[in-house]
Amino acid sequence: MLDKSVFTPHGKHLIAGAWVAGETTFASEPAHGPSHEFSVGTPALVDQACKAAEEAFWTYGYTTREARAEFLNAIADEIEARAEAITEIGTQETGLPEGRLQGERGRTTGQLRLFASHILKGDYLDRRHDEALPDRQPLPRPDIKLVMRPIGPVAVFGASNFPLAFSTAGGDTAAALAAGCPVVVKGHGAHPGTGEIVAEAILAAIEKTGMPKGVFSLVQGGKRDVGQALVQHPLINAVGFTGSLGGGRALFDLCAQREVPIPFFGELGSVNPMFLLPEAMKARGAEIGTGWAGSLTMGAGQFCTNPGIAVVETGPAGDAFVAAAAEALKGASAQCMLTDGIAQAYKDGKSRFDGRNAVKPVLTTDSEGRSALPNLFETDAANYLQDHALGEEVFGPLGLVVRVSGADEMEELARGFEGQLTATIHMDEGDTGLAQRLVPVLERKAGRLLVNGFPTGVEVCDAMVHGGPYPASTNFGATSVGTLSIRRFLRPVSYQNLPDALLPGDLK
Ligand code: NAP
Repeated sequence: MLDKSVFTPHGKHLIAGAWVAGETTFASEPAHGPSHEFSVGTPALVDQACKAAEEAFWTYGYTTREARAEFLNAIADEIEARAEAITEIGTQETGLPEGRLQGERGRTTGQLRLFASHILKGDYLDRRHDEALPDRQPLPRPDIKLVMRPIGPVAVFGASNFPLAFSTAGGDTAAALAAGCPVVVKGHGAHPGTGEIVAEAILAAIEKTGMPKGVFSLVQGGKRDVGQALVQHPLINAVGFTGSLGGGRALFDLCAQREVPIPFFGELGSVNPMFLLPEAMKARGAEIGTGWAGSLTMGAGQFCTNPGIAVVETGPAGDAFVAAAAEALKGASAQCMLTDGIAQAYKDGKSRFDGRNAVKPVLTTDSEGRSALPNLFETDAANYLQDHALGEEVFGPLGLVVRVSGADEMEELARGFEGQLTATIHMDEGDTGLAQRLVPVLERKAGRLLVNGFPTGVEVCDAMVHGGPYPASTNFGATSVGTLSIRRFLRPVSYQNLPDALLPGDLK
């Protein structure tokens, strides 16, 4: 175990096994603790990393699943060997509490190990075989086999709100490496030191398992042209991204405009509506209100699955729900946000609600500096449907209650939502009829439907979908969490009449 006080970032990029310094530096802006200097990424460094990734693909893309599983497990081991140092720098840079960093580390190593066992099972290869029918009339059928193959070097953008589980060795990286694709990570400027120590762990695993050095590179950010050069690089075949709608859309457009367009798997914004059905409200409206406040304020509301909107009927049961949520939110203390920019965006988002006559403040607060206090507003369905800005994500602990007159208006509202990562129904048995009306509508809107729960806390498993129709994600056929996320980095190839000696190992 490394000593907690040992890790001081050197601020370099990791390009194909070597730590490389650029010409200029930027200073990290930690929530607490010392700031460090980091080398600014450049398009030239991106080019070096992509070329090394392409070269590595010629061996890494043809490794056995056993070898890649060993590599993924070694990365997990190396992250665990640096556990305390990762937690220390991670909490300093992001302001997230220690417990959160520890939990996220477990999720990160769990994901790596899950992918190791997933590829060993081999189901993801989707192997198919149509045997030859030489006597078929009028034409014979050839022998055709299909298997999923890795697509080549992949770009990954580290997310600000998950410094471990969605960053350097996070879900996108784990899925791509499991598939057989080398990865070039564009580090997030909010946690460059955390990125560096995790990259160090990946390098140690590369050396331990004899993988080609170019299989992983980390280019720190500092300037916008790094990300732009990465998604436009001709050797990059797909992009995994978690972040804002604006940033994601800009990068998606660059991918689409390339001479050879590539898929951009962006996981963007979502308000994750909750539909509170009347019988459940009558039975336990206040309890659900308190639970909502807990979900809304978890991690200062900086989750893409934060349930920002609650749809509830007018009347006393709905009033009790709102009162309980407001009461619980009032007791919440200020929490540090991930960056100054995200804290400012939260204040700006809140002021969008302040200035609207049709929106009633239930609990309004003034957040100071990099901290956030919760806010709660209320409006009605007619206003919500007219005012597009009310449906835009506010990244932070802000809730909006939309009051509806009854079941018809609730369904109308459900039909009006844009694509979402999640949609939740709170219901009791007596609500089944209304829930049956909502489910077909909501399954067209969201990647994950929940009953009687809160969407924060995304299980990493085989059946998870973390994605959804635009703008929740840029590719509704994909998920960025769970084993199905490996699909993003695979391509089906048919092999017609190839002798065994020419087939990929997974088809022999
Ligand atoms: P972001 O601004 O979208 O940035 C994410 C990554 O994309 C960063 O590495 C950023 O580089 C890069 N990037 C963004 N726009 C770019 C462009 N036009 N060209 C090239 N690269 C670009 O997201 P963020 O920094 O994580 O947080 C800002 C906001 O994103 C939050 O306030 C929140 O609204 C939203 N957010 C959403 C989620 C979610 O899960 N849906 C998660 C986190 C944040 P630079 O750092 O160099 O700009």
